Amino acid sequence: MIKQKWHTLEIAELFNSIQSSVNGLSQHEVIERQRIHGYNKLEEKKKKPVLLLFLEKFYDFMIIVLILAAIIAGLAGDMTNAIIIMFIVILNATIGFIQEYRAEKAMESLKKLSALQVKVLRDNTLLEVSSEELVPGDLVWIEAGNIVPADIRLIETHHVFIDEATITGESMPVQKNPNALADEPTALGDLSNMAFKGTLLTGGRAKGVVVETGMQTKIGEIASMLQRKDASTPLQKRMTDFGKKLSYIIIFICILLYVIGMIKGEEPITMLLTAISLAVAAIPEALPALITISLALGAKKLVSKNVLIRKLTAVETLGSVTYICSDKTGTLTQNKMTVVKTFSYSSEKIFNIDLLDLSMALNHDVSINSTGNFIGDPTEIALVEFATKQFSHNELEEIKLKFPRVAEIPFDSVRKCMTTIHQFENAYLIITKGAAESIDRIVNKANLESNILTQSDAWGNEGMRTLAYGHKFIEQLPKEINPTSIENNLVYTGIAGMIDPPREEVKEAIAACKTAGIQTVMITGDHPNTAKTIATQIGLLGKDEWVITGNELSSWSDSEFSNSVEKIRVYARVSPEQKLRIVHALQQKDHFVSMTGDGVNDAPSLKAANIGVAMGITGTDVSKEVAQMILLDDNFASIVKGIKEGRRIYDNIRKFVKYIMTCNSAEIWTLLIAPFLGLPIPLLPIHILWINLVTDGIPGLTLGNEKSEPNIMNRPPRKTNESLFSGGIGYHIIWVGLCMAAVTLSVQAWAVSNNKENWQTMVFTVLALSQLAHVLSIRRENKLIFSERGFSNPSLLLGVLLTFIIQLVVIYMPWANSLLKTKPLSMQELLICIGGAAIVFLAVEMEKLVKKFFFKKA
Ligand code: ATP
Repeated sequence: MIKQKWHTLEIAELFNSIQSSVNGLSQHEVIERQRIHGYNKLEEKKKKPVLLLFLEKFYDFMIIVLILAAIIAGLAGDMTNAIIIMFIVILNATIGFIQEYRAEKAMESLKKLSALQVKVLRDNTLLEVSSEELVPGDLVWIEAGNIVPADIRLIETHHVFIDEATITGESMPVQKNPNALADEPTALGDLSNMAFKGTLLTGGRAKGVVVETGMQTKIGEIASMLQRKDASTPLQKRMTDFGKKLSYIIIFICILLYVIGMIKGEEPITMLLTAISLAVAAIPEALPALITISLALGAKKLVSKNVLIRKLTAVETLGSVTYICSDKTGTLTQNKMTVVKTFSYSSEKIFNIDLLDLSMALNHDVSINSTGNFIGDPTEIALVEFATKQFSHNELEEIKLKFPRVAEIPFDSVRKCMTTIHQFENAYLIITKGAAESIDRIVNKANLESNILTQSDAWGNEGMRTLAYGHKFIEQLPKEINPTSIENNLVYTGIAGMIDPPREEVKEAIAACKTAGIQTVMITGDHPNTAKTIATQIGLLGKDEWVITGNELSSWSDSEFSNSVEKIRVYARVSPEQKLRIVHALQQKDHFVSMTGDGVNDAPSLKAANIGVAMGITGTDVSKEVAQMILLDDNFASIVKGIKEGRRIYDNIRKFVKYIMTCNSAEIWTLLIAPFLGLPIPLLPIHILWINLVTDGIPGLTLGNEKSEPNIMNRPPRKTNESLFSGGIGYHIIWVGLCMAAVTLSVQAWAVSNNKENWQTMVFTVLALSQLAHVLSIRRENKLIFSERGFSNPSLLLGVLLTFIIQLVVIYMPWANSLLKTKPLSMQELLICIGGAAIVFLAVEMEKLVKKFFFKKA
């Protein structure tokens, strides 16, 4: 197929030239076209080959230093040292690579999950497919909130507005229509019958034919748009900064160690290798990468809790949320509506059909799928279901044929109503349905005896959602069909009341939030009475807490609002634009706000919130695109699960950092203090590297699997600027490191003074086992490990056991002895090492008791 001027074709010509039809393509044709045109996606930057990714792991300052150290050792004739160092380098790179690869795969699978879905007609059946599967010729349906999935020639439009800023830079949405354009040079922004991939449908709905896909689309041609990198998370940035500062201190210590060694007359080459090994071991240069990996693996885990993370930062910051602003319909409630009451004001009948029933049957966008189920907006489905109780399916179809729809003005959340226009004999029947206030605003009140608002208020008090109807007949349609020309002077038809029960799990989730120091706020377009009743039912609204409406909110100044914002629990009849104001007001009070949203107009508030949350089922593409996370089940309770999981992941990152850094601190203290006590250099370079990689590495990797602390949802949210080392972790790293060094040096002193030949193996072993003792204790932050926990994280226990066995191999296997320069220990010596590690364990447990004692006092 050659590239055409699609916008100049009449619709019949279009179908002809792209070889498609009003029934859509056949599945067979789709497969054939996919073969020719490929998938409808923009090419990403070429992926690096796996081997290159692996080799990149060696392109790191510390690793290069180690390789140099190995070469120096080799040149000095110390081949075992050289080989072991190289072995450690390769092992380190391999583990790093595997972890990173896993994390990347996890993020990729998350990306796939958030791929856009598109409604497409194939073989005359309406399907939902991933937008990547579209081919030229596909007949697609798009509506407000959609991101246009390909370049599309529109063939039917209803009040369609598209924001084309991504390709034209013009930020005002442009109106579209299906009319063919003249064949003359036309700017992209003036192609009024085309919709381009990546632009946003801000209003209306349309049908169109896909004409270009993938890199052939306009946006595909603008290559610079393609790459968007995820920025580092605040924690990563802080760790990188911190790591740099720490490196200087450690390098200074290593130089000091070298100088002391030289003064004491040690071998220069040994001292050089020791200093280098210590630098490599103690500088936490891999920590930022390890944090990313933990976050990415955490994000993958969150999918099982129905939380899809789009931006990694969210995993880290979830634990800091202080306010959750939630939609009502579908998030706090089930979105399963049932009409329970109707009131017909107009006694008028057409063909013996009550006008309210007729309106319910005609004014909606519900369709029936191949299995006979209704698909569409749940509010409308409830109304249609109610109508089907009055008419059979066939009668309903007949009514639709008798009153063909000729035009419509789609629903939007500002007007809070929608209108359909139907041919009726030689005239037109206009039907509008919407919020009671909206209908009240546009009906002719001259002879109206009923008060629409009073009726709706009363039903709202019973927790019901109400939808009112109005209608009128006109002889001729105005030239322009828009709300001003049509939605006026209506006759009140009647009102329907429906219930939408709260989700069962929501009450408990809101209570959990309260104990976790998180406030929940309901923001809804619904009636204040309905909102208030539901809010009370789910325990969201307390005694002295407020319900306010969008109108009241607009009458307040910023300072008035700021004074009350923390007392308000329910915002009713708000427009999406007002959500932004709510986010800002809360943020000004130093709150960390999570905001949910599903509509096209929710994008700004989702962006402004600290964590924007979109709905997976009912959410528009636009809201999903800007959100940091998506609720796959639209359920409020999933946010709370996400927060709990986020807190756990963060806790485990802290435990991991605490573990690794304490080990580093122990090595530094041991090596630095020994010369001052008149002891020889305690460890060989390979021992230092071994402890760092093997002894520390294996259990460290499994700390991420620790279950959450029991009080995880009973403590206040973490401040976002809180240091990773807060809560005494900094002190812990220093003092426990010192404690390990004290134990190790005592063992060394004992062994040296008793002329033990294997003193160095004892030092190596006691320090290694102390790490294992330490990890067993810090699994739980404040509670004694004896009191509980036990076997809750088998991977860690196995890791510790495995590391212990490896250490025994290192001590007792002759080949390992010659490799790692160790010597077998007697039973008594081994027990002394185990005893030393036990002292470390008890000391760390004691720390918990002391902390508890002081906290209680405080
Ligand atoms: P939430 O904001 O919690 O999701 P909501 O669904 O009530 O609540 P909107 O979608 O903004 O919020 O709807 C606002 C009001 O518009 C509703 O309360 C209802 O009165 C009216 N409305 C909703 N859907 C339709 C529709 N399909 N046609 C006409 N009016 C509607």
